[in-house]
Amino acid sequence: MLSPGAQRQKKASNTDNKKGKNNMECNKERNLKNCNCTYEPCPRKGICCDCITYHKKLGELPACFFDDSAEKTYDRSIGHFVRLNR
Ligand code: SF4
Repeated sequence: MLSPGAQRQKKASNTDNKKGKNNMECNKERNLKNCNCTYEPCPRKGICCDCITYHKKLGELPACFFDDSAEKTYDRSIGHFVRLNR
């Protein structure tokens, strides 16, 4: 019988593939159906984990946090989001 900590560790390792990366499939096509981002050259469209990581590093939020008119300003700052949602 494994301890609760060992069980959690085993469960986590089951999600890793041989390269040590998460084995979960990306739902890019499904994500694109819900993506309102109009910045066409972006290579991260539909790859939400990359999108969030990119904008988080910049202190921003992804396009999908904004309605369509706000999204088109490309101001993805947290301040912009707060001003719109007071
Ligand atoms: S929100 Fe940003 S990272 Fe995400 S698809 Fe649009 S431009 Fe790319």
